[in-house]
Parts: sequence; C-alpha cells; structure tokens
Amino acid sequence: MKHLVLVGGGHGHLFVLKELAKKSHLPLSITLINPNSVQAYSGMLPGVMAGHYSHAEHLIDLAALARKAGVEFICQPIVGMDANKRYVCLSDGNYIHYDLLSINIGSETQCKGLTSLNNTLLTIKPLLDFQRQWNLFLETTKTKTCTLVVIGAGPAGFEIALAASYRLNSTNITADIILIGGNTGLISNFTEKARAMAHQQLQQNNIKFIAMHAVSDHHGLVLSNGQQLHADLVIATTGARAQTWLTHSQLALDSNGFIAVDAFHRSLSHHTIFAIGDVCARSDVHLVKSGVNAVRAGPIIARNIIAALEDKPLKKFMPKKNNLYILACGRRYAILCWGTLCIQGTWLWRLKNYIDKKFIRKFSV
Ligand SMILES: Cc1cc2nc3c(=O)[nH]c(=O)nc-3n(C[C@H](O)[C@H](O)[C@H](O)COP(=O)(O)OP(=O)(O)OC[C@H]3O[C@@H](n4cnc5c(N)ncnc54)[C@H](O)[C@@H]3O)c2cc1C
Repeated sequence: MKHLVLVGGGHGHLFVLKELAKKSHLPLSITLINPNSVQAYSGMLPGVMAGHYSHAEHLIDLAALARKAGVEFICQPIVGMDANKRYVCLSDGNYIHYDLLSINIGSETQCKGLTSLNNTLLTIKPLLDFQRQWNLFLETTKTKTCTLVVIGAGPAGFEIALAASYRLNSTNITADIILIGGNTGLISNFTEKARAMAHQQLQQNNIKFIAMHAVSDHHGLVLSNGQQLHADLVIATTGARAQTWLTHSQLALDSNGFIAVDAFHRSLSHHTIFAIGDVCARSDVHLVKSGVNAVRAGPIIARNIIAALEDKPLKKFMPKKNNLYILACGRRYAILCWGTLCIQGTWLWRLKNYIDKKFIRKFSV
C-alpha cells in the first residue's frame, strides 16, 4: 500500500481531502500534517477583526475533514524534509516516510528590516497567532489614544487597516491609524480607478497613507526620508516569504526560496512531490500568490495526485488572466475589482459575505 502525505491544510488541500473522501477504494494510506486542527480562512479575517464575524465563523475543521476522508491527522508542523530520501520531519523529532507528497503550507510574512520592533510587531501570518495577539492588544490597551501602523499596502494591508479602524472606533480607544505603502503605493497591482476608490476609503476613515519605505531601528520605526514614527503597534502585511527549512529540503526552489513547479504543480526536481498555493512558484507562468489561485488549483491537483497514483496523464492548471477580488472596507462596504471593472457599495460586501460563507459551508463536516 502506498503512503500519500499531505503537508499543510491550505486552500488546495481542502479540495484534495474532499476528493479523496470519494476515493476510499484506492490502495492508499493518507496522512495530513498541520500545526493546528483548524484552518483560518483569510478572506474572512478582516471581517473577524472588524467584529462582523465570530472567530469560529471563519474556521475550517481540518481534523474532522481528515476523519471524514479516512485520513490520519497529525497536529504538528513540518520542520524539515529530505526529498531524496522521501521523508518529512515533524517538530517532535519523528520522521514520516512517503511515496507521494503534496505541500500546501502557504507562506510567512516577509518582515525583513522590522524584527527589532520585537513586542510591538505583529505579523499577519500565521493567521491564528495574529488573531490571538490582536485580541490581546484590544484587551490590554489601557491608553485612550494609540497609534497603529500597518506596513504593506497590498489588498491585505488595505483591508486590515480599515478593519482595525472600524473595530477601534467601536471601543473607547482613540486610534491614529497609518498605512505605509512603500514606493509602489496603495494596492499597486490594481487599476487606477480601484486605487482612487481605495484612497477615498482611507480618507473617509481618517487613515493616513504614506508612500514610503519603513524599517526599524533601536528607537522604533524610521521612514525612508529619515523621519522617526511612533507606533504602539505595528502590523506587517508585507508580502510572502518562504519557510526557511525548504532551503535544506533538496527540492528545486525559485530565487525567493519557493518550491519550483511545472504546469501540473509537480516539483521540477522530484516528480513524486506536488505543491499548491503560496508555497510554490510556477516555472512557466507568473502565478500571483493569492487564495483564489490556491482554491482554483486545488481540484486539479487533487485529480493529479490520484492520476499519479494510477499512472494516468496529469492535467495542467492554467491561472486566469483576471481573478475576482472583493476588498472589504472595514464597515459592511466593499470594492469589487475584476479586470478593468471596478465598483463599490454595501451590496458588494453582502456578495463577499455570501461567497465567503458558501466557501466555509463547503468544508463544514
Ligand atoms: C488579511 C488577508 C486577506 C486576504 N484576502 C484574500 C482574498 O480575499 N482573496 C485572495 O485570493 N487572497 C487573499 N489573501 C491571500 C491568501 O491568504 C493567501 O494567498 C492564501 O492563504 C494562500 O493559501 P495557501 O493554501 O497557499 O496557504 P494557507 O491558506 O496559508 O494555508 C497553509 C496551511 O499550512 C499550515 N502550515 C504552515 N506551515 C506548516 C508546516 N511547516 N507544516 C505543516 N503545515 C504548515 C498552516 O497552518 C495553514 O493551515 C489574503 C491574505 C490576508 C493576510
């Protein structure tokens, strides 16, 4: 009997688990390894932070999904692997051997240049740790006024700044909120119209936007013009970084340390290994690191894993030119972007709410 190991309970593996539940006839033992028994859904995180949803509403029960699929669940992170010898290392020191491996562990927050902030720095990933620390901040902030700085003005940073503003306005804490967007500006991969709408949302919520780079020194934050910036809390939403243990995995990696894969999402160096979502880098096309791409690739990788076991042809995953993004704006209001189409309104928040809840329902056991 072959052993399939799924590392990480990311968006793609949710589909793999669902598909495997239908294939109980396969001569296969399967293990899922993830540091937590639940997976937080990032699309709803700003809504949880703003207080529109309870914490439980955005969680997917991985352990229950695994049970339903007849999959063994190990609640630990992987801290290393040897792709040549076909084993992964658990944090408790044990090794797990595999015949076929699929990796969907997401990414970490790239916070180079900010680490000396220590206790005032809160990285957006891992999402569950972020939420624990955000709740702690809300509970322990005694001062009536505080300054919150969000660094990184991509879609996540934009949503987090507005969610924080909405939430803090509903408490007795008066917060100055600053969003720092580097030299590229606010949601720089989006259209001019979307960027104008996003700026308008920041203005309406008294969030100051600074288009400069920020680093930390022993006094705190410093902007690229030399100005020192006081912050009681700094949230880093500064893009994706690969987990460092991948460097020693024997896998082929791209220049940023992510797993290099082909159009079938197979490792370029090891054809018995698949990778999905933020952790991988396609060698043939540019694949944006987003939940949408991980979700869309999921069913195809599920099929490819089964095809690889049955020695059948694999299918390519072709990313769409334009994905749909609905950016939550703190209150129940959103901006929808799809290619050049860009519209905003309260009904778009309701649409996002519908899509997100449907996603969660799909994986509730
Ligand atoms: C606030 C916010 C909002 C976002 N909103 C959107 C959105 O609306 N649309 C969109 O497309 N994208 C959005 N994104 C981006 C999106 O979150 C990521 O691109 C997406 O989560 C990547 O999915 P993934 O499946 O690769 O990994 P993840 O969803 O991050 O899942 C990885 C899983 O692997 C586990 N894991 C991590 N390390 C290990 C290890 N060493 N061993 C075992 N398991 C491990 C983790 O615990 C986690 O369960 C948002 C991001 C943020 C921060």
